[in-house]
Amino acid sequence: MLSESMLKAINEQLNFELFSANVYLSMSAYFKRNALNGFAHWMSLQAQEEFEHAMKIFNYICNKGGKVEISAMDAPTSEWNGPLDVMQYTLIHEQEVTSRINNLFKVAHESNDHSTSVFFHWFIEEQVQEEAEVSEIIDKLVLVGDSSQGIFMIDDKLGLRKAGSAE
Ligand code: MG
Repeated sequence: MLSESMLKAINEQLNFELFSANVYLSMSAYFKRNALNGFAHWMSLQAQEEFEHAMKIFNYICNKGGKVEISAMDAPTSEWNGPLDVMQYTLIHEQEVTSRINNLFKVAHESNDHSTSVFFHWFIEEQVQEEAEVSEIIDKLVLVGDSSQGIFMIDDKLGLRKAGSAE
């Protein structure tokens, strides 16, 4: 049984994961418009992954006998200034997710909600991966600078990403 405040916080995270999926879908569309199909592919898988995170939380709430509440959400940004701008925006977004999850873990821990603590443990580890992957792409983009050849090489590599893996 989840406490009322814990349930509210978990539902907020569920909605934030759905929002994240929308953000990445919007980025995928931006890349499509700009002929960067590898980046677009990478972002569409990123969106799928966020939806899976949301579903993990959805199932957790249901298993605990809580009520899932899907709320209205803001429209994501739809324009950026090139791939580096998008990836930097992504890193900031993931850092926000990390801080929200850390906070959830802290609340669960402080209220002796052990099952919720353990549940969010997976997300804490996942965030380390998320941030590392995005940082690596940023590093590569910084290295190639304005070289369109470099950007197309990164685009090709990101196009190889398989569902369920980062690259
Ligand atoms: Mg996520």
